[in-house]
Amino acid sequence: MILPQNRRQQWNGSSFMKKYTIATLGSHSALQILKGAHDEGFKTLLITMNDRQSLYERFSFIDEIILIKNYQEFPKLENQLRQKNTIIIPHGSFVAYLGMEGNKKIRTPYFGNKKVLDWEADRMKQHEWMKKAQLNKPPLYDNPDEAEYPVIVKSFGAAGGKGYIFAGSKKEFKRKIKTMSHKQYIIQKYIIGVPLYIHYFYSPLSKKIEILGIDRRYETNTDAWGRIPFREQKEMKTDLSYVVVANSPLTLRESMLPEAYAMGERLVEASKKIIDSRGIFGPFCLETIITSDQKFHVIEISARIVAGTFLFEQGSPYSWLLYDEPMSMGRRIAREIKIAIEKNKLDLILD
Ligand code: AMP
Ligand code: AMP
Repeated sequence: MILPQNRRQQWNGSSFMKKYTIATLGSHSALQILKGAHDEGFKTLLITMNDRQSLYERFSFIDEIILIKNYQEFPKLENQLRQKNTIIIPHGSFVAYLGMEGNKKIRTPYFGNKKVLDWEADRMKQHEWMKKAQLNKPPLYDNPDEAEYPVIVKSFGAAGGKGYIFAGSKKEFKRKIKTMSHKQYIIQKYIIGVPLYIHYFYSPLSKKIEILGIDRRYETNTDAWGRIPFREQKEMKTDLSYVVVANSPLTLRESMLPEAYAMGERLVEASKKIIDSRGIFGPFCLETIITSDQKFHVIEISARIVAGTFLFEQGSPYSWLLYDEPMSMGRRIAREIKIAIEKNKLDLILD
């Protein structure tokens, strides 16, 4: 989508070149985003709740902090933000705390294509997008009687794996599904393999896709379960939980990198066909599980910066191959904005 004429004129004026402020909400990947913005020469602004003030005040790269009592207060700040020539960088907390509609209503220039939000949030749409991109995805089942077990049951809009159900058999499914009775959910085949999350950046300016890092997540208590001997596990009735609390770095077998790049490219191309002509751009992540036949199974698209990128604040093995300087995802976003300002092309990357 092209910015309205009046906004475009405002943003393309050369007198604004050095006067931009990069802002985000205080959680998820805020530190990385603002450090990257600072390193690229922008002013930085953080909007956060009172209880996080002491954390964020520790960091000198944050020029200004605006405190709010709750996230519902965010829209009231917009006039102030626009006066400061602010560009907002959304991350995982934007949809989690402002809601999808709250995001769509933001009037301050926003890095990314808001139309992608609908395609990320609706699991069926996401499925269609992956299909169009020819990504290998785990089968979904309408009917639990026809499912191949084990399965994982995911509610719509779940945050960070919260509330998922693992079922090893039809009997277990029927017992556990009662907790989901009022929710919309999908039943997906559970894939046994290596979970691997690929961090992409697509530049609409250079029209190139970059892989800047790869992580895996530590999910309580799924990742803790394997540390308990089977003898004890048998006696325990603990349900698995996929709530993510930490991340660690991974590198991929080099012979699998061509497909990793190709998957990102296909996803971008498909988005231009089914979402709009701009499609997805900036940071995104493919959450994959690799099976013993070395195949990627894509379980989810995260259509924005993922928190696991924080591992690579100083760059990753992959970003180092592309840039002879430390290039975090936060910095890469700021770099794109900087290039767009220089080329007078901000309308290509803001909504
Ligand atoms: P928070 O800022 O911790 O409240 O998280 C906001 C959203 O981002 C939630 O949906 C979290 O599940 C997700 N999230 C936060 N930290 C991580 C992480 N390290 N890895 C993956 N997802 C995360
Ligand atoms: P998601 O919300 O789709 O990122 O899923 C949260 C976590 O659940 C993932 O990080 C995986 O550990 C696990 N998971 C989700 N889908 C599958 C699947 N189809 N097979 C195996 N594990 C899965």
